[in-house]
Amino acid sequence: MSTFIPSRFAGVGVIVTGAGSGIGKATAVRLLDEGATVVAVDISSERLAQLPQTYGRQLVPVTADVATEFGIDLVMAAAGGKIDALVNNAGIMDGFLAPSEVDDATWDRVFAVNVKAPMRLTRAVLPMMIAAGAGSIVNVASEGGLRGSCAGVAYTSSKHALIGYTRSTAVFHRGQGIRCNAVAPGGVRTNVDGAFRSDLARQVLGPLLAATVPKLAEPEQIAATILFLLSDDASYINGAVVACDSGWSAV
Ligand code: NAD
Repeated sequence: MSTFIPSRFAGVGVIVTGAGSGIGKATAVRLLDEGATVVAVDISSERLAQLPQTYGRQLVPVTADVATEFGIDLVMAAAGGKIDALVNNAGIMDGFLAPSEVDDATWDRVFAVNVKAPMRLTRAVLPMMIAAGAGSIVNVASEGGLRGSCAGVAYTSSKHALIGYTRSTAVFHRGQGIRCNAVAPGGVRTNVDGAFRSDLARQVLGPLLAATVPKLAEPEQIAATILFLLSDDASYINGAVVACDSGWSAV
């Protein structure tokens, strides 16, 4: 589908969250193939165990819940002293619950995983990047961060927040050689829980989605965009939100 660039990330240390499945897995595998050392983080040890075992010390699997402080500590301990790049990819859906339906538990968990975890992990890696005078961060947002019609209120709000967080980070730290960008995927063929827990969403969003959603992407198509944003080819791109959605956001 796309051409590997051998050694593009040779010697580069990258943390990828949600690396056991979907977009995170495709990103981790391609980074490994292109020479990076990858701290591959997932809450599911079973999923991490299914990553190819052919990369030796390049692959550092870490089972951790990034929504907890303890989980962030585990990741940073495994990362050691040198991290050049971070992909905040782990994210969860919200059952498409509407504002009139959303419960506190759903709201809090979605924000803990989709917003607070990227904030904490970014805060943890920034001192290393600042000391090095270089670093690249990619946050995996969503079409849901660009519009109000493709998820429930918690997910939509969380991905809008993640985009704001991306822009703020880009501005505050650009003078220190650090870039922070977001990718906004449309629909992607992964294990994400896309089940509707809302009849209202089915009625209101169903027709909008049916009319506008393009063919699903493969996770590797999103990974290719993430690697571009991480790479030096994107050296002048900072604070950008790159829609990777076959034109959905242009409709
Ligand atoms: P996925 O469910 O296939 O993979 C997500 C991985 O993250 C899973 O392996 C899961 O175990 C892990 N994870 C979840 N919570 C975690 C936690 N607290 N700590 C550590 N790991 C955790 O989903 P995906 O579609 O690949 O999603 C990746 C990202 O892409 C998410 O941020 C999602 O919001 C975003 N996204 C997905 C789509 C889509 O259509 N699939 C569209 C737009 C954006």
